[in-house]
This record gives sequence, structure tokens and C-alpha cells, in this order.
Amino acid sequence: MTRRRGPRSARAQRSARRVIEGAGGVVVNDAGDVLLIRHRNGSWVFPKGHIEPGESKVDAAVREVEEEAGVQASVVDPRQTWQTAYVNPRREGRRITWYLLRTNADEAVMREPIFPSGGFFAPPEALAMLAFEEDRTLLRHVLRAARRLGLVDGSGPQEADAAPAAVGDPGGA
Ligand code: ATP
Repeated sequence: MTRRRGPRSARAQRSARRVIEGAGGVVVNDAGDVLLIRHRNGSWVFPKGHIEPGESKVDAAVREVEEEAGVQASVVDPRQTWQTAYVNPRREGRRITWYLLRTNADEAVMREPIFPSGGFFAPPEALAMLAFEEDRTLLRHVLRAARRLGLVDGSGPQEADAAPAAVGDPGGA
């Protein structure tokens, strides 16, 4: 039987199915500010990256925060996770597991040319800076958890208290 290629090529189907896992950190410091880094293309994002062979997601998140932002931070609760998903410009599906991290740092130390700047920003400012809607939704969810824990001022912006449903609820909560 002749196999005819349909409208979607085999390559496109492969790339649509391929999902690359990653892990990252939403880092809150003692002042209740949130760590963001700026990609050289101008986008403000959270630090995150690929998971190395044999590495746990939570360890990958802590490592990526240190590598991409020069910030040493610790995970508040490794059971509490959030997910985002998107397709990157290489048409790879990405699924990122996020953790809430704490630090006593108040500035980022940028080392990677791909991320020329970064720092800690008050939640309303961070929400306005983030480049991607998935990340804004993520931050709103994480801020609610951080407020419950007393890590972020409870009188924060109304916008941060909105309850969009696009991001997975905390994995372990
Ligand atoms: P790593 O996971 O190691 O950081 P990477 O740098 O290739 O790998 P990706 O997130 O796969 O990271 O690709 C980066 C690009 O993906 C960004 O430059 C941006 O164009 C796009 N991107 C990142 N986050 C989102 C998002 N939430 N929605 C849409 N596109 C995004």
C-alpha cells in the first residue's frame, strides 16, 4: 500500500508531540520582591531550564536560579508545584514545573550573556514586566501561596489576587 503524506508532515507531527520538561523558580526575597531576569531579546522571565540526566526537578530549579541569576535560594515546599506549557520558537513543546523559592538576596548577579540583566521587583511591577501571559498567571498563583505563608505583603495588588485558572494548581497541595 502506498503511504501518502497527509497535510501535516511527519516532521511536524513529531515536533508537535515532543515535549521537553524543564524546571524553574519563582523567587521571593525578604522584602517580598520577586526575581525576574531579562532575556537578551528583551523578554522578562523567571529563571528556569532543562533538567539534567539524573537530576530532580527541584534540584534543577535551584540550580537554574543560581546559574541564570546568581541567586542562592531554597525551595519553600518541594511538594508544591505549578506548571506552565508553551511551544517555543523552535516548535518544541515545553512543560515547566515551577517552585516557590526564598532568598535573602536583594540583587541578581548576571553571568550569562543570554540574560544581561535581572533583579528583584515588587509584585505589581513584576506582573507588568513579564513577557508571557502564562508567566503572569503563574505569578498570580504563586503570590497567593506566598501570601498565605506570610512571605509577601497581604495587602498586595488586587490584580495579584485575581484567580485565573490557566495554570495547574499546586501539585502537592
Ligand atoms: P532552557 O529551558 O534551558 O531555558 P531555552 O532557552 O531554549 O531552554 P525555551 O523556553 O525552550 O528555553 O525557549 C525560549 C523561548 O521560548 C523564548 O525566547 C521565548 O521566545 C519562548 N517562550 C518562553 N516562555 C514562553 C511562554 N510562556 N509562552 C510563549 N513563548 C515562550
